[in-house]
Amino acid sequence: ATEREIIENSIRDVKDFPKPGIVFKDITTLLNNAKAYGVLMNHLYQRYKEYNLDYIAGIDARGFIFAASLAQMLGVGFVPIRKKGKLPYTTISEKYSLEYGVDEVEIHIDAFSEISNAKVLLIDDLIATGGTANAAAKLINQAGASCVEACFLIALDFLDGQKNLKEITNVYSLIEVK
Ligand code: 5GP
Repeated sequence: ATEREIIENSIRDVKDFPKPGIVFKDITTLLNNAKAYGVLMNHLYQRYKEYNLDYIAGIDARGFIFAASLAQMLGVGFVPIRKKGKLPYTTISEKYSLEYGVDEVEIHIDAFSEISNAKVLLIDDLIATGGTANAAAKLINQAGASCVEACFLIALDFLDGQKNLKEITNVYSLIEVK
């Protein structure tokens, strides 16, 4: 099997979660499969080792896992972008709209302050509408850094989320769901 097949075959589809009609992409079956998790992280390492990144930012909560793993492999810092109310120090926050209502993500104001104009890779497990990732990229820019690329393990292409990534010029998705 190819690298992509090993990764793709380790992701489980769960029907009707979190509500009827939704097929949820479950990545826990990738994480508990050491071979698939390793193949994924090696793939990301090979792609990003030449980027000269300063930080990797991960989105709450599944994005943290891949972002933190890759940050350690590349020898750069990890920065969490969290749902509202979770970060203890002074934050910058950004609201974004959902199908029903709004949500909000936050970053620590000094997350990138050690390096001026830091180059940041943003990672999440999945892009659906793109609202979360776009708000996260805004926070990276507002915190004085620059989001050089957004990386997703899975893109739900039928939702066309990439067109909502106004704050992000480069996007990389490993698995595209048509
Ligand atoms: P968006 O803001 O692009 O509409 O939604 C993306 C966010 O929702 C991501 O943080 C992602 O973790 C979560 N998400 C939505 N649907 C799924 C899914 O089917 N599987 C997983 N693993 N995450 C999902």
